[in-house]
Amino acid sequence: MQYPALIMDKSKIRHNAKILSEMAAKHGIKIAGVTKVLCALPALGEAMVEGGVYALADSRIENLEKLKNIDAPKILLRIPMLSQVERVVQYADISLNSELEVIKALNDAAKDKNKVHHIILMVDLGDLREGVWYQDAVEYAGEIAKLKHIKLIGVGTNLTCYGGVIPSYENLGNLVKIAEEIEQRFGMKLDVISGGNSSSIYLIQKNEIPERVNQIRLGEAIVLGTESAYGERIENTYSDAFTFAAEIVELKEKPSVPIGEIGRDAFGGIPVFEDKGIIQRAIVAAGRQDVKHEGLIPKDKGISILGASSDHMILDVTNGEKHYKVGDIIEFDVNYGALLAAATSEYVNKIVK
Ligand SMILES: *Cc1c(COP(=O)(O)O)cnc(C)c1O
Repeated sequence: MQYPALIMDKSKIRHNAKILSEMAAKHGIKIAGVTKVLCALPALGEAMVEGGVYALADSRIENLEKLKNIDAPKILLRIPMLSQVERVVQYADISLNSELEVIKALNDAAKDKNKVHHIILMVDLGDLREGVWYQDAVEYAGEIAKLKHIKLIGVGTNLTCYGGVIPSYENLGNLVKIAEEIEQRFGMKLDVISGGNSSSIYLIQKNEIPERVNQIRLGEAIVLGTESAYGERIENTYSDAFTFAAEIVELKEKPSVPIGEIGRDAFGGIPVFEDKGIIQRAIVAAGRQDVKHEGLIPKDKGISILGASSDHMILDVTNGEKHYKVGDIIEFDVNYGALLAAATSEYVNKIVK
C-alpha cells in the first residue's frame, strides 16, 4: 500500500445515497449524485447509482467523460465553457446554463451531431453565484424556446454556495412561480425544478419544500452525511465513508516550543506555540500538497495536529491511545475541504474498499 492514501468505503456511500434517495422520494424528489469532490472516480458514481440516485452530476466535462460507462443520465453543473460545447453535447445529457451565447453555441454543436441537448436554466434567487437574475428568467426562457436543438427541461437554482443564502419555502417558491410563468407564457411543460444542493435537505426534513421542486443535486450529503445549511449530521448516514491515512517517518521527544528567535513559517505566517513541556512528536509524510490539514480529525482522539508544511505534518502523539513507532499509519476523518484537497492531489493514493 502506498501512502498518503484516501480510502473510500463504497458500501457506506451506497448506504448514504440510499437513505437520502428514500427520504427525498417521499417528497417526490429525485437526487442527482454529485461526484466532483472525488474527481468523479467511477467507483463513487457506481456506489451512488446503486444507492438509488437517478443521475450523476459533475462540474467538469472531463469528469462526466470518466463516468460514460455508467448507465445514468449525466448532468454538467458548471456553466459550459464556449470552448467546450462539442464535448458538452457529447458527454452530458443535460447541462445547467445561464448565458444565451453559450446556449446558442450548444444549439449549433447539437445540430452538428444531430442531437437535441437538454438544459436547465439556472436562476439566481440572490446567492450571487450563477444564474439569470430572477426578474429576467422568463424573457430568457422565451429566447431559449426558439432554438431547435435545445430543449429547456426545467429551471434550477444554487444557494448557500457563494452568498450563503439559505433555501427557504419563500425563495424556492419563487423558483416554482418562475417555472409556472414560463409554462404559461410559452405553452411548454417543465419537467424539472431543481431546488439546490445539500443545503436544501433541512427543508425536506421540515416538510417545507415547495411541492413542485422535484430534483436536488447532492454531493456533501452523500459523501459526508451532513447537510450544509446548518452543518448538521443527517440521521442514519455515515460521516466516515472516507479516511485519510499517512505514515509516520519520524517520532521523537522534543520540546513543544521552538528554540531561538521566531520569524515566519514556510507560508509567511508568524507561528504561536503553547508550552506543554517535552512532548512525543510524530512527523507523518503528508503535507499541504496532499491535504488541507485544518480539515483532518485524527481517529485516535489522543492525537492533535500541530501544523503542516508542504510535505510534513506534525502531530502531538503524547496522549495517543497506543504507542506509535516509525512506519505506523495514522488515520484521519476528513471534512469537505480536506476531502477535496486529498482527492485532487496526484500524490494521494485513492483506494476503494
Ligand atoms: C457542487 C454543486 C452541487 C453539490 O453541492 P453539495 O453542497 O456538495 O451538495 C450542486 N449544484 C451545483 C451547481 C454545484 O456546483
